[in-house]
Amino acid sequence: MPRLTATVPLFREKMMTDNKLSHSFGDLITVCLSLFLFAFGIDHANGADYQIATFAADVTIPIGHRCMGILPTKAKEILDPLEARGFVLIGPDQPVVLVAVDWCEIRNGAYDQWRDSIAKAAGTTRERVMVCSLHQHDAPVCDQEAQLLLDDVGMHNELYDREFHSECLKRIAAAVSDAMTETTPVTHIGLGQAMVEKIASSRRVVLENGTITYNRYSASGGNEFHANAPDGPVDPALRTITFFNGNHPVAMLHSYAVHPMSFYGRGGVSSDFVGLARRRMQREHPHAFQVYVSGCSGDVTAGKYNDATPASRQQLTQRLFMAMEASWKNTKRVSLERATFRNSTYDLPFHEADEFRAENLNKVLKDSTAKEGDRILAAMSLSSLQRKSRKQPLELPCLDLGAAQIVLFPGETFVGYQLMAQQMRPDSFVMSIGYGECWPGYVPTKQAFDEKFNHDWRWVGRGSEKILKQAMQDVLLPAE
Ligand SMILES: [Zn+2]
Repeated sequence: MPRLTATVPLFREKMMTDNKLSHSFGDLITVCLSLFLFAFGIDHANGADYQIATFAADVTIPIGHRCMGILPTKAKEILDPLEARGFVLIGPDQPVVLVAVDWCEIRNGAYDQWRDSIAKAAGTTRERVMVCSLHQHDAPVCDQEAQLLLDDVGMHNELYDREFHSECLKRIAAAVSDAMTETTPVTHIGLGQAMVEKIASSRRVVLENGTITYNRYSASGGNEFHANAPDGPVDPALRTITFFNGNHPVAMLHSYAVHPMSFYGRGGVSSDFVGLARRRMQREHPHAFQVYVSGCSGDVTAGKYNDATPASRQQLTQRLFMAMEASWKNTKRVSLERATFRNSTYDLPFHEADEFRAENLNKVLKDSTAKEGDRILAAMSLSSLQRKSRKQPLELPCLDLGAAQIVLFPGETFVGYQLMAQQMRPDSFVMSIGYGECWPGYVPTKQAFDEKFNHDWRWVGRGSEKILKQAMQDVLLPAE
């Protein structure tokens, strides 16, 4: 009877803020009223079939923790905290959860641990928990099987600290459980977007001699050629989905496709300009819970506009915050009639090169003279091969809110996929999120493969676009 239980917290909350009635008397009235509503089948007293619960937990890494999986400089100072922030949408079906984590990546067994802990706390199933990282780089990469492999060769805590990770899972589960006792009705959703000024630019640049490269990295703004080259293929819009209770915004979910780094690798742990903009937005809108997610941005960075100085970080924060405010101001409200959840499973081909074969990876992992970063990367590769041998597929979860769809992509999916998703549903408001299950690393488009995009952080091979596109069609264009 989810509708009955959903009614109770609303009234309890009102009683508590009112404070004129004692708790026991308030509770008694709540129970009687709920029973009355249930008995007469009137569960629309507040006009809502849906409820939302918002939650947040601190997931800041300890000093001395590895950043970005392989960076040589470990955490030296905490510039600002890392958070996991999300919501549970509760309706006639099982709850759907979205959580956005200020971490670089969560992979394989660690990804499932996140989903399972949260699913248990929210009373739902693993597949309905949409976990994404924002992909900041002075933040951890967690991959359970990779760290176990590293433990076997004496490299304890070199990818991530499993004890700290377990503590985070407990914290987030407790935050979700608490949130489930204080839900708020959702009657409408709001759809808004705004063009972002001077943040995103493509890694793809065409050199003067016509050669195509993907070498414009996140801090290329100091280089004259890279600063002057055009933006290239990006999605310039920041999108916001707001959950309303009547006229009141309860939670806002913002998405923009850009790598979220201004500078990194110096040991200063930070949620970077995306987390800083989100916090500013939270201060400006204290009653609307703020969540930010990174869109599909494997090939998009702030490169053209960022010179990796603290001033650049501030400037990017300000620009993103302005876009969030503009997107909120442009928001149009529509009633939430029905929320449905769809998922598609598939597998992507593994990297084609010889050095990605298990025997070669094992050699690197066990070679104590090899570079630390290479051994960690080998462990991460082996972890994904283990996953492949147990035939655990990738997933493409989609929360369909009627007028809008939220799709969670794996890894560093290129922005081309986000644009394809919009083209599949030109009638609708499609919000794409990147950095779900992160084992694939970069997920290039066919065009990028054809243009010889390559990088150490790519674990998938040619043919990925066709497979992923089919999964997108499954969840975005379901057969009636
Ligand atoms: Zn990246």
